[in-house]
Amino acid sequence: MQPESPTRLLVLASGNPDKLSEVRSILADRPVRIVPVTDLVPDWICEETGASIEENAVIKARAASAAAGLPAVADDTGLFVAALGGGPGVYSARYAGRDAGYEDNVRKLLRVLRWEEGDSRRAVFRTAAAYSDSSGLTLTASGEVAGTILTEPRGTGGFGYDPVFFAEALGCTYAECPAGSKNRASHRARAFEALMGLIIPAWKAASELQG
Ligand code: IMP
Repeated sequence: MQPESPTRLLVLASGNPDKLSEVRSILADRPVRIVPVTDLVPDWICEETGASIEENAVIKARAASAAAGLPAVADDTGLFVAALGGGPGVYSARYAGRDAGYEDNVRKLLRVLRWEEGDSRRAVFRTAAAYSDSSGLTLTASGEVAGTILTEPRGTGGFGYDPVFFAEALGCTYAECPAGSKNRASHRARAFEALMGLIIPAWKAASELQG
């Protein structure tokens, strides 16, 4: 029988409660305890200056690990819409302006797409996930899910663009699919599952080296 891995503390480079609850649910069966960086460093902020979601995920994971003095993970997510040439992409959080909330962004997206039909409403949600620790190790992985932007919101679950993103594989918007199914099959779930597939072997290799 394989010995069980000890539970390790993993800092999440975000203070966003929606992300925190999803990441905790996605990693519930993994040997990690997720703590938001803002619980350890209350005034933590990190400018997302990367040109891609991959760069932003690495920037956030490294900043949170350095600030907390612990291994950290981060995710950066974008919604890539065909009619917008792949936008808003890395700018998804600020689509309707610097201080825009979820509803502002959804309203703008539906307005901009109001004349679009068929394939031009196709979209991909993509998450880049990154891990960083004090040894200098950085690991990255990504996950994506294809879907369509509806013409009006449906469902009350989830957050962000969830009510207008119809995920083909689930047959519903992320906001209306049954509890838990988003976190088993989402872009974020795929990215964090892939990332854990890199982290656990790296931890095992490091502990074997230490004897
Ligand atoms: P972030 O930069 O990773 O925080 O994500 C950018 C923006 O994408 C967020 O502000 C949300 O509006 C949106 N977003 C991120 N993840 C999701 C998700 O799982 N569902 C819906 N919208 C999301």
